Amino acid sequence: MVYAAAASRYERMKYNRVGRTGLLLPAISLGLWHNFGHDGKAETMRAMCHRAFDLGITHFDLANNYGPPPGSAEEFFGTMIEGDFKPYRDELIVSTKAGWRMWPGPYGEFGSRKYLIASLDQSLRRMKLDYVDIFYSHRFDADTPLEETIGALDSIVRSGKALYAGISNYSAEQSRRAAEIARGLGTPLIIHQPRYSMLDRWTERDSLLDTLEDEGMGCIVFSPLEQGVLSDRYLKGIPSDSRVRHSHFLQESVLSAENLSRVAALNTIAAGRGQTLAQMALAWVLRDPRMTSALIGASRVSQIEDAVAALDNLTFTEQELTDIDAYAID
Ligand code: NDP
Repeated sequence: MVYAAAASRYERMKYNRVGRTGLLLPAISLGLWHNFGHDGKAETMRAMCHRAFDLGITHFDLANNYGPPPGSAEEFFGTMIEGDFKPYRDELIVSTKAGWRMWPGPYGEFGSRKYLIASLDQSLRRMKLDYVDIFYSHRFDADTPLEETIGALDSIVRSGKALYAGISNYSAEQSRRAAEIARGLGTPLIIHQPRYSMLDRWTERDSLLDTLEDEGMGCIVFSPLEQGVLSDRYLKGIPSDSRVRHSHFLQESVLSAENLSRVAALNTIAAGRGQTLAQMALAWVLRDPRMTSALIGASRVSQIEDAVAALDNLTFTEQELTDIDAYAID
């Protein structure tokens, strides 16, 4: 069936400015790390992309290695770009990244100019795109001069293959240095993509948001649901269709009695707010006005709908935040 985007697609979503830039991102973005490779059903994958865009999720996040196998999520998204999303390219923010191992040999990972430029060329071919909106250095590379990595991002933006540049998984200090180099080159880094959730608070200890604010950068956090643990998904056992059962990225050991008791307590607090735990977990990462977007994953359409409904209650009382702090421990 031919897809036509919902006329109501901009009625519900909230759009946040990315740092001090001209770009706005939806408060909820969709990532294609899991469930969009050969592990997913094409019909479900398409339905999730449709529903996301219909709900105002204009931002789709990819990386060279998303699958499995690596590259297959981008290949799938290429079918969306060539097909259903073709009329909407200018309404979409598509990002990709390079940093993790993608091909054999010394040029298939990390932060060299050689790897980053070749990888983006491959990503563009897989996604049938002339350019991506945001291209990220996916991880800090201690063995490559930061000037080379950031210089490659600058070249990529100047070549027109990406509109904006970002970094992911960099510490506050690494981010500050990267931002300084980028500014000097004339291609400011606009966004950082760190992991952050009620069960992973390293960015708070590192004062990352303060650094990003100083640098005029935005922040989009990945795994805000801690891959599904921060939901009611595992409160009554381990469902056979859950990430714990089909991906080595989420080990069963994370579901310790201690963690599950925290999740149950957080679930009760969420119920008191009239939210699912997943909704409260998203509202919580978005509680700081400097936070641009919460980047979720999904295995079904209903999870995307659940996430967007979190926007109906984004505020917390001081008491709620204190109660959450008692269990939001990593
Ligand atoms: P989440 O923490 O949002 O976890 C997503 C998983 O949680 C889903 O697959 C689903 O699990 C479960 N889930 C989602 N919504 C609900 C809900 N409403 N109720 C119950 N369970 C729910 O994020 P991800 O870990 O998937 O990461 C999101 C994105 O972040 C990635 O796709 C990627 O784009 C990016 N990312 C970036 C990284 C980086 O290094 N820059 C690293 C990792 C991710 P189930 O499958 O069990 O149904």
